[in-house]
Amino acid sequence: MSLSGKHALVTGGGTGIGAATAKWLAAQGAQVTLLGRRLEPLQAVAAEIGRQAFAATADVTDAGAVENAFGASRERFGRHDILVNNAGIARGGPFLRQTDEDWSAIFATNLFSIVTTTKLALPGMLESGWGRVVNVASIAGLRGSPYTTAYTASKHALVGLTRSLALEVWKKGVTVNAVCPGYVDTPMTDQTVANIQKTTGRSEAEARAEIEKLGPRGRMLTSEEVASSIGWLCLEPQSAISGATIPVGGDSF
Ligand code: NAD
Repeated sequence: MSLSGKHALVTGGGTGIGAATAKWLAAQGAQVTLLGRRLEPLQAVAAEIGRQAFAATADVTDAGAVENAFGASRERFGRHDILVNNAGIARGGPFLRQTDEDWSAIFATNLFSIVTTTKLALPGMLESGWGRVVNVASIAGLRGSPYTTAYTASKHALVGLTRSLALEVWKKGVTVNAVCPGYVDTPMTDQTVANIQKTTGRSEAEARAEIEKLGPRGRMLTSEEVASSIGWLCLEPQSAISGATIPVGGDSF
């Protein structure tokens, strides 16, 4: 299997895209640490994967807790070869109603936590001369859309981080890329559907249909479709791809 002997850490690994990515990487032979806030969903995914998986709890915005979780993960499976920065939050609404707290929480989770996790994983990758960092951005990292200013700004910033860090470490054997999905059928989108229902009075089916028609395929993506793009970037032959922002099912073209 192509990722045998590699250790991957996936943040937000208990649900949605993170859980599907952990399973994809494990199926390729990687040992996987699932990092997130709630032990129960992490353990459920770890149990599905089996002995190759380890669940570590931390809020990604708490640098001390993240450092401890990375330490426990290294004790279990050794240096991190692959880091998937997937944990994220979305809070929509008109610009004038987005509070300072909304902006802080979104940037703490979607950007600054990635500075923390990447600083922890990168030294080991540079030392071994091999590494993969995949940042789960969004189609919102490549273009604007109304009622999502804080989220869109955070994902644009993540794309900037990806492109610049890629240039810094590429010659040292580490690639840094971003995947940029359109709407994916996950708990995050369930929340968006609920918000549309609340603000427009539409039914759940109508709200979901609104979202489905936004994508070029006329439906939401599955977590597995995004996971396979993330996983593909981690495989050996993709060592020549770095600083890329890969749109998955989004209408960025
Ligand atoms: P999700 O809500 O299932 O996943 C987000 C995960 O991040 C959850 O497991 C959540 O518990 C975790 N998380 C959030 N804040 C955290 C914190 N402070 N500490 C630790 N863990 C935390 O939804 P998803 O769609 O799988 O989202 C995964 C990523 O994909 C996010 O970065 C999101 O922005 C991005 N994304 C999602 C969509 C979509 O349509 N769902 C589209 C493009 C990009």
